[in-house]
Amino acid sequence: MASQKNQFRATLTNWYHENGRALPWRQTRDPYAILVSEFMLQQTQVVAVIPYYNKWLRRFPDFSALACASENDVLHAWQGLGYYARARNLHATAKIIVDRHGGHFPEAIDQMRQLPGIGKYTAHAVATFAFDQSVPIVEANTARVLARIFNLQIPIDKTAGREILWNRATQLVPKRGAARFNSALVDLGALTCLPRKPKCRICPVRKFCRATNPKILPLKKARPCTRRLTENHAFVVRENKILLERSGNRWRGMWILPPLKTRTCPEREPNGSTINGPIYRSIFPFTHHRVALNVYRRRPRKIDVSSQRWIRIPSLDRMPIPSPHRRAIKNLLTARRT
Ligand code: SF4
Repeated sequence: MASQKNQFRATLTNWYHENGRALPWRQTRDPYAILVSEFMLQQTQVVAVIPYYNKWLRRFPDFSALACASENDVLHAWQGLGYYARARNLHATAKIIVDRHGGHFPEAIDQMRQLPGIGKYTAHAVATFAFDQSVPIVEANTARVLARIFNLQIPIDKTAGREILWNRATQLVPKRGAARFNSALVDLGALTCLPRKPKCRICPVRKFCRATNPKILPLKKARPCTRRLTENHAFVVRENKILLERSGNRWRGMWILPPLKTRTCPEREPNGSTINGPIYRSIFPFTHHRVALNVYRRRPRKIDVSSQRWIRIPSLDRMPIPSPHRRAIKNLLTARRT
């Protein structure tokens, strides 16, 4: 059994040596850079993360630079990656590292897990990739690979399934060279053991794999249905300025077109005509929702000074604005000019 495990590890890491991806966060052992990559990779694909990661490290090269930055700058740099709680948590973590840990990221997993936004997976990822600790990681790629290799017939997103996965991963991780082994397992999932079309014929660990029908694995509990939401916002411009509102909800801290409580009341123009339909519509996904964004033209009026502000149009590029609203603003301002 032990020798089979060793054979599996050796086969996998040899394959990785030849085929592994040269990702930018694999060229460093700096816990800050690795933490940034892990936060960005939650919910976001590698190809989308790479340019953000490189730009982020140029802008905020270490915990101290990030801790000193304003929330506005942090959200602006994250703009387009979505799930902005990650950026806020990373910012909060940087402040704690500077204030309470003298700028040094802790090596102990239980200390890491007390930091904002750092759960079991992220703590283990930093422990293994930055400090080469012999700990397992279970994320989407490794979960799929392990579920297939061990032919797990249990939903992996339920407590029991998650526990089994972590146990199996713990049994496999080597005492030395854990970072390389874990990277290899991730890359096997990303390059060979693909979700819908696993490339079993060229898989380096095929002889160890017990999956009888890999395409149906891993099993997952039924997904909640996608819910539809409609959100109505106002497009209000005055001379060279646009009215924006600081979001207190989904995009907390970012600037959005002011929400409309109702859209049912048509506005009257000075000439008596009414403004009825939306001047812009789009649909964007958000977790388990499909959100219909409707934007209505509204005339300037008294604003809520606690959350709203007139922004000069040339300054918009410097404001953190979530992508669906930035697209709407760009589109409407372009239409206004033409
Ligand atoms: S043999 Fe197929 S299912 Fe098994 S690990 Fe390799 S690619 Fe995945």
